[in-house]
Amino acid sequence: MTITSYNPADPADLVVAVEEPGAEAVRAAVARARGAQAGWLAAGAGARSVALGRIADAVEAHAEELAALVVREVGKPLAEARGEVARTAAIWRYYAQAPYAPSGAVHETAGGPGLLLTRRRPHGVAGLIAPWNFPLAIPSWKAAPAMAVGNAVVLKPAPEATACALRLAELVALAGLPQDVFAVLPGGAEEGAALVDAADVVSFTGSTGVGRAVVRAATERGVPVQAELGGLNAALVLPDADIAQAAGHIAAAVAGYAGQKCTATSRVIAVGEAYGPLRDALVKALEAADDAVCGPVVNAAARDRLTGAVDSAVAAGATVLTGGRVPERPGWYVEPTLLAGVPAEHPLAREEFFGPVAVLHAAADLDAAIVLANDTPHSLATSVHSGSLDVALAAADRLDAGMIRINAPSSGVDFHLPFGGAKGASHGEREQGQAALDFYTVGRTISVLPAGPGGGA
Ligand code: NAD
Repeated sequence: MTITSYNPADPADLVVAVEEPGAEAVRAAVARARGAQAGWLAAGAGARSVALGRIADAVEAHAEELAALVVREVGKPLAEARGEVARTAAIWRYYAQAPYAPSGAVHETAGGPGLLLTRRRPHGVAGLIAPWNFPLAIPSWKAAPAMAVGNAVVLKPAPEATACALRLAELVALAGLPQDVFAVLPGGAEEGAALVDAADVVSFTGSTGVGRAVVRAATERGVPVQAELGGLNAALVLPDADIAQAAGHIAAAVAGYAGQKCTATSRVIAVGEAYGPLRDALVKALEAADDAVCGPVVNAAARDRLTGAVDSAVAAGATVLTGGRVPERPGWYVEPTLLAGVPAEHPLAREEFFGPVAVLHAAADLDAAIVLANDTPHSLATSVHSGSLDVALAAADRLDAGMIRINAPSSGVDFHLPFGGAKGASHGEREQGQAALDFYTVGRTISVLPAGPGGGA
């Protein structure tokens, strides 16, 4: 079998074709990584710090080329692709400091002489499974902390983002990393499952169904696993919000990169009299979202799933306020779309469709809006739009989401802070920031008694 990826804006453009390596090749890559890991850890904090810094340099030195590849392979608008490349370099640079961070603490004994130490150590080989929508940033925010603390990594990218991952591996090699400390194994479900079966720690980002299977398989083996999954993200707009600003933020979160972010807004909840003005402002803002903002969806199947869901919602009584059509042009495009009157149990109101489509709901008051927002297991990110910080912060306390953004688009991530969802949107330790360093290490406790007579036992 061959793994291929095509340009979503120009489906005749084949970006890459590579032979699928198969499960045995994954096991071999993990074995090689295991062989390299002890040397990588023993090289010390200074060497690991320098190496990670060099990866940041290599990413920066190839920024425009990388951004163009992201545009070509996964259809990301250029400005966002440039932003992702800059973030990727920043992630490597941020974690280049991590090898120097304290790896434990000294404690008093409960009684008697001696020393109690805690120390965090790497797991060994980290198996990283990534989606296609952030083809450089997500692999990097998994690999950089894992490597900083002394793990070797094997990355299995999504097939749709194969070329980006292979180019990242070339840049890592250019940075002079020891062989097999960072390996990329292209592939699909077979290679992903083989990696979960062989790695010492597993980090997965992707869709909910696949993620749950990965968590089950890793848990069965007894290896630590984290999974960041899909979201069904809401934007709450209160009547005292700056409606024009809220509409701009929400349109960016619905249509930005064609809604293909786990933190994209797919449910807009207008409270009380915010409904009418927000509906009108949002329609206007979505109609202004051009290719520089939205772009194509990743493939024909994604486009057809979206338009099928819109048609089915309309058949069930919904109204299209804007969009809903496939533009007549090459590429896998769907117009930014807003619907009202979608029945509460319709899949479009209940499931992640991963495209530039949102449903507008009315809520009588903030309490009703919070009940609606929380009525999903996919609680990743919620935005709250209000002129009152008191009201917004009080609402934040009652929302289930892992990420709450006040007067901002629901999409948007700060790489130095913990990132993850609530309820069914996330499993295990948070990603990014200090949380990632905790996930990629395991603690041990060391008790030291004085040697010789009188040392005690
Ligand atoms: P996906 O679940 O189809 O694939 C994710 C990865 O899993 C790919 O590398 C894929 O090849 C691999 N895979 C598939 N079957 C597997 C199996 N049986 N065992 C092991 N690995 C397997 O997701 P996708 O389409 O690549 O990405 C889109 C999804 O990712 C959306 O649901 C989106 O919300 C989610 N996502 C979540 C976050 C987050 O941090 N919460 C971030 C980005 C994307």
